[in-house]
Amino acid sequence: MIYRNPGSCFRNLVAGTETKVPLANGKYVTAINFDNAATTPPLCSVLREIAQFAPMYASVHRGKGYKSIVCSDLYEHGREVVREFVNADKRDVVIFTKNTTESINMLAYALAADEKEQVVLSTDMEHLANDMPWRDKFTVDYIALTRSGRLSLKSLESKLQAYEGKVKLVAVTGASNVTGYINPIHEIARLVHTYGARIFVDGAQWVPHTSVNMRPYDSAEHIDYLAFSGHKMYAPFGTGVLIGPKETFANTIPVYQGGGAVGLVSQQAIEWEAPPAKCEAGTPNMMGVLALITAIDTLSKLNLDDIHSYEQKLIDYAIGGLSTIPGITLYSIRDGTEERVSLVSFSLEGLHHSQVAEILSRKAGIAVRNGLFCAHPYVEKLLRLSDEEIKYYQTHDDKSLPGLVRISFGLYNTIREIDIFLELLTHIARHHQFYAHKYGYVLEPNRSNGDKKEEYPYC
Ligand code: PLP
Repeated sequence: MIYRNPGSCFRNLVAGTETKVPLANGKYVTAINFDNAATTPPLCSVLREIAQFAPMYASVHRGKGYKSIVCSDLYEHGREVVREFVNADKRDVVIFTKNTTESINMLAYALAADEKEQVVLSTDMEHLANDMPWRDKFTVDYIALTRSGRLSLKSLESKLQAYEGKVKLVAVTGASNVTGYINPIHEIARLVHTYGARIFVDGAQWVPHTSVNMRPYDSAEHIDYLAFSGHKMYAPFGTGVLIGPKETFANTIPVYQGGGAVGLVSQQAIEWEAPPAKCEAGTPNMMGVLALITAIDTLSKLNLDDIHSYEQKLIDYAIGGLSTIPGITLYSIRDGTEERVSLVSFSLEGLHHSQVAEILSRKAGIAVRNGLFCAHPYVEKLLRLSDEEIKYYQTHDDKSLPGLVRISFGLYNTIREIDIFLELLTHIARHHQFYAHKYGYVLEPNRSNGDKKEEYPYC
């Protein structure tokens, strides 16, 4: 497939796309970042907005000074921007957190306050953030996968039936950070609501890549709870989001307690604020919220559907290229109709995942992710590891843990970058024995810049 314009029209909007990084041979090249699922570089608009607003920065909800009032208003306005972005219901609260992990832990804590012995259905394809927080508070069961690693809706329905109304929540990812599969969230929501349960969607990999609509309460396809992270959508500075019905948080004791969450406190009694304030003890991260709403504004103006279709071209091209390289095994299928985000995981015969990642970085400045991507059970299942094998890895302090290599694209990546990657990977595959020998199993990082100091330009 030949592209007339192998660049990205979004490239200039993102900071650091021309940053030079050192290779093993001492030369410098423009970094290629294929690790956007972990975190994305900031949008230039976000950096500009932060710099411009900084002189007005002051404490939120803690002063009558002019700057403090401006900051407090902007922070509250942020909730409305987020609400509109995902079409959350007016009865939902938008709670600002640190990231998706914190959001899910807070939700688990809030829901667990309900005394009943109840079930949470997580799935076999979750990030640990949407698995571990449920384990110590509920009876947790996992929705199974199909042979291709997608979520089995049959398994979901049979579990909903088997638990006979005891399922409180189905906690499912919008998009997988391992295979890139997008789950049919609204179909799942319809099913979940039929059985009287609620649905939580982990939007960490979903919200940054496609338009998301929580839909109104009166729709059976409504998303009850949603979480996502600013740093995965071009807005670093540490803001996450948790959205859900106000009533969920109204009668529970919040996990974090302290100033800002309360009205009047005596040593005998606490008067709690209403949510969301009740759930945000401590000084709020105003700059994080500013970064997030600026990113939302920019992504919305660019149009998330256009971003999605551009990223689809990238991932289709990459998967097409990867499938022709001998020794590559891909861990998600591509049948043309499937919904996916722009990432894929693979292994290369004869080389450990950490060797592949290290070689790509050292030889061409290409950053990928390797390992289990904090989705251990999913990767274990995709690799078809037995219980004995998993136990072995858990009980042996062995550096060669199983895992995969993942490439994940952002809106600023280009076909040209993918070509560089595919060319090098083809070369590595052809010479895997040489590289397996050269890059011994335990790899020593060599990230010294020597005396070659370069100005790292951005924007
Ligand atoms: N959920 C998914 C699907 C993810 O990919 C990640 C991070 O990679 C998380 C949750 C956790 O996000 P954070 O690290 O921002 O809390």
